[in-house]
Amino acid sequence: MINFAICPHDTETEELFKKWEFFSEELSLKINKKINFITFKDYYDELENFDKILPDIYYASPVIAYKLQKNGYIPIAKIKDQFDSFVLIGKLKEKENITVITVNLETHIVPLLYLKEIDFTKTKITYVNKQKEVIEKVKRKKADIGIVYKEVFDKLNPDIKIIKEAETKMSHFFMVKKESLYLKKSILSFENIEEINEQYFKNSYNINFEIDSLFKVKEFYDISKTFYEIPFIGYIIFKNKILYANKIFQDFIGYSLDELKNKKLSDLRERIYNGFYKCYRKNSVKYAKCFFEKMFFNGDFVEIAVIVDITKEKHLEEKLEEAKIKDPLTSLYNLDGFFIKLNLEKHKGVLILIDINNFTFINKTYGKYSADILLQKVAEKLKKECSKSVVARIGSDEFAIFRRIDNEKEILEVLEKIHNCFKKPFKIASEKIKIFVNTGIAAYPEDANNIENLLQNASTALSLAKSEGMGTIKFFNKKMDYYADKIILSETLIEKALKEDMFVFYLQPYYYAKNLKIAGFESLVRINKNGKVIYPNEFIDVLENSPFIYEFRKTALKKIQNYINKLNMPISINLSANDLKDKNLLNDIKKTVKNIKQPLTIEITERAIMYDMLRAKETLDKLKKISNIILSMDDFGTGYSSLSSLKDLPFDIIKIDISFIRGMVKDKKMRSVVKNIINLIKDLDLKTVAEGVETKEQLELLQKFGVDYIQGYLLSKPLPFEETEKILKNDIIN
Ligand code: C2E
Ligand code: CA
Ligand code: CA
Repeated sequence: MINFAICPHDTETEELFKKWEFFSEELSLKINKKINFITFKDYYDELENFDKILPDIYYASPVIAYKLQKNGYIPIAKIKDQFDSFVLIGKLKEKENITVITVNLETHIVPLLYLKEIDFTKTKITYVNKQKEVIEKVKRKKADIGIVYKEVFDKLNPDIKIIKEAETKMSHFFMVKKESLYLKKSILSFENIEEINEQYFKNSYNINFEIDSLFKVKEFYDISKTFYEIPFIGYIIFKNKILYANKIFQDFIGYSLDELKNKKLSDLRERIYNGFYKCYRKNSVKYAKCFFEKMFFNGDFVEIAVIVDITKEKHLEEKLEEAKIKDPLTSLYNLDGFFIKLNLEKHKGVLILIDINNFTFINKTYGKYSADILLQKVAEKLKKECSKSVVARIGSDEFAIFRRIDNEKEILEVLEKIHNCFKKPFKIASEKIKIFVNTGIAAYPEDANNIENLLQNASTALSLAKSEGMGTIKFFNKKMDYYADKIILSETLIEKALKEDMFVFYLQPYYYAKNLKIAGFESLVRINKNGKVIYPNEFIDVLENSPFIYEFRKTALKKIQNYINKLNMPISINLSANDLKDKNLLNDIKKTVKNIKQPLTIEITERAIMYDMLRAKETLDKLKKISNIILSMDDFGTGYSSLSSLKDLPFDIIKIDISFIRGMVKDKKMRSVVKNIINLIKDLDLKTVAEGVETKEQLELLQKFGVDYIQGYLLSKPLPFEETEKILKNDIIN
């Protein structure tokens, strides 16, 4: 039977106290002895009665600990209590007997400050009531040494030498009676700790031993066994610097024991949260779960950190965590992730919702695979442009961006950045896909006091933006819409141009090379915005990739049909790759040709055909069957088609790209290339057009090479319809 005594301390909660009861039960099991757990009512009860009991093990307050030590008890552990710092003042004499003066409660600090130097059997300790008194007695040399709180000492600022300062978080002792508890074995060195296993522990009872150290190690051993597959784990023993680390820890951290001995624990790790640490291995990061305890070892207090490698679990956990909050397609945050992130942010900012307008169109036209790649590219771009923001994909074609802002001006900055993302078409394989977005914005905390509301209000703004047409930006707070107006969007322009009939077609004649008489016209689109002419380079990419392309084509056909009849001349229409894919194309063309007196020429760029050669050929073959249609390949030489493929396609005319015509004059090689191209096309029985002819020199060379038609500024710029009638009259007179 072992008596285990404890007194509830003022700071001890009921729960903490329960822990000791539990501990005594555990101890009882471990040493296979019945333990009688004794408690005192309170501190005074303890002071009065402790020497009547003198149990085998005592969880003692500082004062009692001191008294117990005088009774032959040895301290086996110090228990964390409060943050205290002490100074030992006076002068430590070389003589055998010294007097120490202290206020009751600080007695325990004596061994902590001067553990080895003070022999308690030869030390006279005097208690006083006030710390001030301690200082005065030392000053007047009534005592050799005094112990006081550092703060008190500093405040009184006496003229006494400080022997030592100590900072401690411990004030309680776990004491054991020298004769009462024996263990068979003792840990002789740090290395020995590893030898402890269940058996060792059971057999250890009976030899004088630092029981606490053993218990601690056993506890860790048990923990490791319960929670992890590896029954023993890495441990480090340290006191400021590392004193010892076992092999498992050396392997884990990638340093040898010699290397470790110069290091502090803080050099090796960073706390993530209580008990969990990020550890710095030589070239990588590992994760560990750590338990720290004080240990009394060879008459000194050291600390032991027992670590369990949880790197694998941590990585797995991270992946799982990430999977939960990330969108697998774009690896942006998903809605859950966005909420989590924003709750952490809680900073003044704006929530911007972006919805891709023509996504269904893209899905249908380019297929799901391309649409997915497109979303990935959008995500990539948003992330890059909005690196200061939290970016998420919260719906199939909806993105959310939260940007911290300190002032309103930054809103414009972030909106411009977002707009930049969508300015240019995205390149997917050989396609260029233009995206249109609507944007809804709400500000935090101005428009909402929590994240849910903020999202809801940004959604409201987005719905409004959608209803106002493609490319619109709307703020939840309408007063701020003027920011949106600052961002001019070509997509709105196109929508407006269609609605308000602002598209006009200029006509550029092309001429027979032989006699320079007009052979026909090419229609080239412009937007007339209140008398200002906007050229296709500003909107054609956007137009060709928007769902408006079909409606636009109908308008174009109607106008061109009208011009053909009025001028009684063949006129070309430029079609895009997306026109070629449209099922309604053939019908639209058929309808148009029914009503024309002269042929309609269809110009399609070489690149548009090369993208999907088979499908293009199929459509072209069908177009070819329609009467009064001439097929013309535009920009020849830029799409890398082979001349032999020209043979398989039903083209009538090949337009040699402007770049060849430009290069021809200065570059001899280019000249012979153009000459050869013309000859080869002639051999295929096709007609050639040289476009972009700007100089006489070019004209004369091309005439010499036997090109069929000439087009370019030298002879005429594209003209508004009204002017074409005039030049036609002149043409006939000449
Ligand atoms: P494109 O079909 O290759 O048209 C020729 C472009 O070269 C036109 O530019 C024309 O104005 C310009 N050009 C003509 N002669 C000369 C010259 O001597 N020197 C120079 N430097 N340029 C000359 P524009 O009108 O700006 O059109 C640009 C492109 O926009 C066109 O290239 C065509 O791909 C596209 N585009 C124009 N109208 C339409 C249309 O109605 N529908 C479609 N889908 N695309 C169109
Ligand atoms: Ca053209
Ligand atoms: Ca061209």
